[in-house]
Parts: sequence; C-alpha cells; structure tokens
Amino acid sequence: MNAHIGQFRLFLYMAGTATACTAAVLFLCGKLLQPGLELYVPQAAGFLLGGIYSFMAILIVLYVLLWFCTYADTFKGRRFQFVLRAYLRALFPVVKLQGQMLGKREALCQAYIQFLNHLFLRRHLRYPPERILLLAPHCLQWDQCPHKITRNIANCHQCGHCPIGAIVDMTRQLGMPFAVATGGTLARQIVKDIRPKAVVAIACERDLVSGMQDIAPMPVLGLLNERPNGPCFNTSVDLTALQKVLQLIIGD
Ligand code: SF4
Repeated sequence: MNAHIGQFRLFLYMAGTATACTAAVLFLCGKLLQPGLELYVPQAAGFLLGGIYSFMAILIVLYVLLWFCTYADTFKGRRFQFVLRAYLRALFPVVKLQGQMLGKREALCQAYIQFLNHLFLRRHLRYPPERILLLAPHCLQWDQCPHKITRNIANCHQCGHCPIGAIVDMTRQLGMPFAVATGGTLARQIVKDIRPKAVVAIACERDLVSGMQDIAPMPVLGLLNERPNGPCFNTSVDLTALQKVLQLIIGD
C-alpha cells in the first residue's frame, strides 16, 4: 500500500488540469453566449451568465479545498466530505479522458484509488473490526473450487488453493465480516444488508473506482488485486498489504 501512496499526487495534478480545462470551457461559453443572451433575453442574461461564472468559481474553490484536504487535517466533516466526493465523481470522467489521451488510463485509475485512500487515511478514522466489511471479488476464488462461497463464506474449506482460505482465517481472527461478491450489484446488496461503518474492498481498477464512488460517503479503503493469469481469472491479493490495511483501519 505504501508503494502506491505517492501515486495520488498524479491524480491531484490531473484533477487540477481537468478543473482548469472545465473552467476555461465555461468561461468561453459565457463569453460566446453573452452577446446573444443580451440581445434576445436581456432580462435573464445577467442571471444565466452569473450562473455559468458562479459554477466556474465553485469548481476552482473546490479544487483549492481539495488541496487543503490532501495536506491538512481540516474539513473532516461528513457534509463536506459528501460535497468533495460529488466534486470528485463529477470531475473523474474528465480526468479519465485526459488519461486516455496520454495513454495513462490505468495509472490514473490507480492514482484515483490511492487518492481516495489517502483522503480516508487523513481522517484518522478507526472502527471496531465487527463494523468493518471486507469485500473481495469472486475471481479470487480458484476456478476449479467446487464450493459455493458467494452465498456463505463459511463454505470455504481453506484448502490453500487460493487466497480466500487465508482471508477467511485472517477475518475470523479479527472478528470482522467478510463477503465475496460476483459483481457490483451483489456488492451493493451485501453492504446494504450488513450495514458496516466502513468497507475494505479488494478489486481491479475499474470495479474499485465505481464501487468506491457508489458507496461514498461511507468510508472505503481500496486494495488492488493481482492478475497473474489475466483479468477476472484466478486473481490474487497481497495478504501482507491487506493485513496492514486492516490494522490501519482497526487502529490496533
Ligand atoms: S481456499 Fe476455499 S475458496 Fe479457495 S479453493 Fe480452497 S476451498 Fe475453494
């Protein structure tokens, strides 16, 4: 996890570029629309232009606040975090588009996940293990395993063929809930049923980005899976990194 911490700065810089580009487009739109609005709807022109420029100013202010949240122990309130997450969620497609243009889409997704992790860790939140849900993807399970673990994780016989057995052991020792989901819909349903205070999620870049955004403002820490056999097939996870992440959030 620590190896990735520095990556979040990449997201911060790209978010700055995305904010600047969006603000510039809004400014240009305002300037282009101004003559027409003043000619055809003079009564509403001031209001409409004010709206465009205010939105532009709000984007810039939110980006400045993002820097404060990144480096200072301020603005930890739940409502502010909600606004911040909404801003990040709206901004991320623009950041991702930049990543695609630069051929760094995956690196940017990783940087975004690390950035969200960083925002979480800055808040120094700690929870009892029984209120933290560990969610893992189905592809961590050995593809030849005959046991159905998505309905009940206790069906795992801990045979050692895949990391699920070790994770079952780890979570049992800590006394925390652990579930395996086949997709985003089931993952959301599990979160709804268990109602944890925080979630630690293991997944690939795409699923983590959408999952972390969906669950917000609930605190989520994301851990990328390893894919030595290609995507979605007999994947793995760094168990030492997982242990560290759990220790960080339990605070023991
Ligand atoms: S560790 Fe559990 S889930 Fe993995 S192959 Fe063995 S029984 Fe199946």
